[in-house]
Amino acid sequence: ARAPKLRRIALLGARAVGKSSMVLQFVENVFVESYFPTIERSFTKQLTYHGQQYEVEIFDTAGQDEFSIFNGKHALDVHGYVLVYSVTSRQSFEMIGVIRDKILNYTGTDWVPIVIVGNKTDLQGQRQVSREDGEDLAARWKCLSCETSAKTNMNIGRAFELMIAEIEKSTDQVPEE
Ligand code: GDP
Repeated sequence: ARAPKLRRIALLGARAVGKSSMVLQFVENVFVESYFPTIERSFTKQLTYHGQQYEVEIFDTAGQDEFSIFNGKHALDVHGYVLVYSVTSRQSFEMIGVIRDKILNYTGTDWVPIVIVGNKTDLQGQRQVSREDGEDLAARWKCLSCETSAKTNMNIGRAFELMIAEIEKSTDQVPEE
């Protein structure tokens, strides 16, 4: 078997959109209702995608605002970015645009591996962002997207798989060092 590929990914987004909850559900299969503002932490999980083993290191960044996005020392040293909003918050949807601009400005490129994730789909009556809004944005940014619920564990694994897919797309042309 080939050695696992190490891939580092960061979850970025407004406060309280469910970044920590997504990571906890993915790594430990639990959901907690209570809200503890995140201290920046990292988690590791093994996964297999298209027959290749990956060791995924996930940086759950501390609650973001547009001023503190890149204060976290890991925010740039990653292969891909999961940009999370809550489907119940228009403001959090707008925030991911601000975050993407900052990433591109920092990296000096016009494309980086990004997956757009609309979380909290279980809160149906509280929707402020439609599924089409998310898909249209993904089409404009030429990236992948999905909707998730960290509470019901809907599409959480898929969100991280899409991130691996985006990273692989970008490294296909580049030989592994
Ligand atoms: P973070 O600041 O982005 O890391 O957000 P947290 O993961 O701490 O979640 C903020 C709050 O939203 C917590 O009270 C969570 O229990 C809740 N939450 C997170 N994901 C979901 C979800 O998919 N559905 C619902 N109903 N609540 C969620």
